Amino acid sequence: MVKQIRFPLLSILLIIIISSSILPSSCNPQITKSPKINKVCIIGSGISGSSLSHFLRKYSEDRNLIGEIHIFERNGIVGGRTATVTIGGDTFEAGGSIIHPKNYHALNFTHLLNLKIKTPSDGSLGIWDGSQFLIKTLDNKNNRKLISLYNSFRLFFRYGLSLLKMDPFIKTMLGNFLNYYTDLESRPVFETVEEMLKWSKLYNLTRGTLQEELIEAGLAPKLISELITVITRINYGQSMSISGLAGAVSMAGSDDGLWAVEGGNWQIAAGLIKHSNVTLHLHEEIESVSHIGGSYELNSTTGNTYSCGVAVVATPLDEVKIRFSPPISIPERRLQHTHATFVRGILNPGYFGMNSVVNIPECVGTIEDPSLPFTSISVLKKYSEDDMTYKIFSRAPMEDTLLDQLFRTVKEVIRINWGAYPHYHAPEVFSPFVLDGLHLYYVNAFENAASTIETGAVAAENVARLILSRCCGHTSTSSHLRQFVSEVHVEL
Ligand SMILES: Cc1cc2nc3c(=O)[nH]c(=O)nc-3n(C[C@H](O)[C@H](O)[C@H](O)COP(=O)(O)OP(=O)(O)OC[C@H]3O[C@@H](n4cnc5c(N)ncnc54)[C@H](O)[C@@H]3O)c2cc1C
Repeated sequence: MVKQIRFPLLSILLIIIISSSILPSSCNPQITKSPKINKVCIIGSGISGSSLSHFLRKYSEDRNLIGEIHIFERNGIVGGRTATVTIGGDTFEAGGSIIHPKNYHALNFTHLLNLKIKTPSDGSLGIWDGSQFLIKTLDNKNNRKLISLYNSFRLFFRYGLSLLKMDPFIKTMLGNFLNYYTDLESRPVFETVEEMLKWSKLYNLTRGTLQEELIEAGLAPKLISELITVITRINYGQSMSISGLAGAVSMAGSDDGLWAVEGGNWQIAAGLIKHSNVTLHLHEEIESVSHIGGSYELNSTTGNTYSCGVAVVATPLDEVKIRFSPPISIPERRLQHTHATFVRGILNPGYFGMNSVVNIPECVGTIEDPSLPFTSISVLKKYSEDDMTYKIFSRAPMEDTLLDQLFRTVKEVIRINWGAYPHYHAPEVFSPFVLDGLHLYYVNAFENAASTIETGAVAAENVARLILSRCCGHTSTSSHLRQFVSEVHVEL
């Protein structure tokens, strides 16, 4: 006979109350709302952390909802992956270098901060397969119209009408991306990356590889394995097996009208931090984040402790060693390393089977072949016919012996090993924006959609709205927000 056990109602209630209090907080989010957040602590001073501080101030200024904002940066300079490098007395972008004309946050920041814009000129492009150039275009600096016509003809001759399908593919993605600048009254605040991508109709592009998406869009295999492979390798150091969305974003990096900030894109981060009334802690690496008594305790390698109502991670968590208590759980992700090697010297034309260095295109891209030791080589500055500065991207370090083969003379070399961007997959998986169900946020969860200066800002804007709505019940449709959105449209 089965024994029937009956609990009186009071005991059941007690059990519920006791068990909910011993559950880890991440399983039982008790979100406390308060009229004001005393201190927001942001780990990382790149575009994600700096634009987050900007949007937090901007979106709450009419109600003064945010007290102190602290940004922690382990390096001695802000800007993260928009750093510059100085070689041979000149300074060049070492990481995030070009910005799309429809990257409206970046453009708006640049206007707001009175920064100057420069538009890099188009050099010649060659696709190298290890033994020959499959195609070479001409340098488009002078006689623009004629040369651009000639280049289009060359490309059409090799890739045919399939080329015409590239643009609509990029435009559809861009059109959907523009939803992130629409009126905030009709744009929700997103708790997850999936929601954010589904709302803008970009999610489906993260389900298949770029190769699959392009074949479905009717692009010819030759165009995919040559020109688009070169673009994807230059922009994300990866093959056609990256997700369709990351691939489409990378392809947009070959559009017309690309620009950069004169003197370095890092100035956007620096300017935003300066204008957002932030306490900046340089050379201060955060090693642990603990949720204690309703706030977050951040400990840095310098031995300092900071107590914050809201903590935000604005850096990829994949290679940093921050200890979280209670522990957090996010999908495993590995970063794609890109080795950026800067060389002042002159290339060896013999390496490319040529007599003269003038015949080598200013940007040499490579197809997907594991035996090729570099992804791209591009001229950054031409001092004379036998003295130039080059940027080389590769998946493995460029050893001296390799440089000796590639170059006739080498005067100076600088190497940077970037943990550059996520190694993209399809279907893609995403970390949540809220790491513990409470007030610990992760801006770079969005990097698995695409990693750019603008996507950092777009993610940060959403996280700023998320913080304000979750902490203070602020629906972020204030007049300031409306004004900001209309400014973006008026200016552009
Ligand atoms: C080689 C390369 C080329 C690129 N090209 C382009 C391009 O042309 N156009 C484009 O739009 N994008 C490009 N990108 C991508 C773009 O640069 C990045 O997506 C963007 O800059 C990321 O900004 P972020 O603020 O999210 O991260 P980051 O810039 O990485 O900022 C994170 C910051 O956090 C700091 N940090 C990390 N851990 C800690 C800690 N524990 N305590 C304190 N501080 C910490 C880091 O030092 C860093 O400064 C490129 C990237 C690379 C590497």
